[in-house]
Amino acid sequence: MASPNIKAVRGTRDLLPPETDLWNRVESTARAVFSRYGFGEIRTPIFEDTSLFARGVGEETDIVSKEMYTWEDRARAASEKAQSLTLRPENTAGVVRAYIEHKLGDTGNLQKLFYIGPQFRRERPQRGRYRQFWQIGAEVIGPPTSGAESPIRDAEILEMLATLLDELGITGWTLQLNSVGSATDRPRYVAALKEALAPIKHQLCPDNQRRADTNPLRVLDSKDEADQDLINALPKIADFLDAESKSHFEQVLAALDACGVPYTVNPRLVRGLDYYTRTTFEFSHSVGLGSQNALLGGGRYDGLSEMLGGPRAPGIGFAIGEDRLILTLQAQAETAAQTTKLDAYLAPLGIASNPAALSLARDLRRQGLSVEVGDGSFRLKKSFDAADKLARHIVLLGEDELSTNIFTVKTFATAEQKKIPRADLPTHLRT
Ligand code: AMP
Repeated sequence: MASPNIKAVRGTRDLLPPETDLWNRVESTARAVFSRYGFGEIRTPIFEDTSLFARGVGEETDIVSKEMYTWEDRARAASEKAQSLTLRPENTAGVVRAYIEHKLGDTGNLQKLFYIGPQFRRERPQRGRYRQFWQIGAEVIGPPTSGAESPIRDAEILEMLATLLDELGITGWTLQLNSVGSATDRPRYVAALKEALAPIKHQLCPDNQRRADTNPLRVLDSKDEADQDLINALPKIADFLDAESKSHFEQVLAALDACGVPYTVNPRLVRGLDYYTRTTFEFSHSVGLGSQNALLGGGRYDGLSEMLGGPRAPGIGFAIGEDRLILTLQAQAETAAQTTKLDAYLAPLGIASNPAALSLARDLRRQGLSVEVGDGSFRLKKSFDAADKLARHIVLLGEDELSTNIFTVKTFATAEQKKIPRADLPTHLRT
């Protein structure tokens, strides 16, 4: 009996050309933008000690309580203990662990670090939500004397993200931000929230009833239609900020105004992870993502290093969902068409033209053009169909063309057909 085909595991996927061209373009644009802002790359391991995430991300979060891929690593010797390991569900905890482990704070300087890599969460897969997904993220962290706590760092990160999305050609993004206050504001707010939720809890959906007990901040994230009026009437974190947090947030907003970065303050944006303090933010996009419309999220985590046993090291960072960025770019059809299509498809008319076609392809490729070559045994219609899928132009190589060195070129976007001399081909095909 034939054995069943082995398939990629649910929630994981293969990335194939031409889509991988888009991934490479996104990553190289991100690298170029990050380097202009003084960021250097960090690569941390894909798996870490489970306690890093339990302590860093928070036991009560969905990520840690339900979504991690965790296993007991076998002890290799009788003297060794088995260790609980976890595939990283996010990268901030790993970066802060590395900051502590390598004593990066001892330099006294602000550390600006970025990463690009896969993350793993056992979520229910759907469009824009996978079990292995990619994040492009960055962190700014340093000792208090390095200025890591300054609101200018928050505004710089947000301005950099706006620049990156603009340079990638993402149009129509929106930025929402909020301040969730300092480590002392937050418990006061959570207490007030619990108190306000107690008498109305029974009117909420079962999910929100559970959240009201375990993690009341998560009620604010709820999208349940029927609960919205009740949630909007709950106390707002803005009324619980101390003078310092309030002034910090006002300075972030003033710097964004000065840079012309558009934003909306959303008092309900608290985000799921435990480590956030003060500024939290999300960039979203409505095209192509459906309900999974958060492109990226981030915020300040001034107490995280100490939570992980390190020195005081305020910080702020973000993680872009690269899969969602790609889906958005693909949905913006013109961008996708421009970036994924080759410059030209060369169609030999008859197998006698094959050597000349390959030789022309060689010249064009050496001049930096992207080119595919057909086969002279193809019928003309088959060549046109293949070319239309792959390239912006088709170049015909028949006997006439080869003897005159003037080629018939069709441009698919305009349906225009022209005769182009050999010397002008590179310029024409680049358009
Ligand atoms: P988070 O680490 O949860 O703040 O997520 C940051 C960004 O990563 C989100 O805004 C999404 O764009 C992306 N993301 C989170 N989880 C997934 C997932 N399961 N699949 C794809 N992208 C994800």
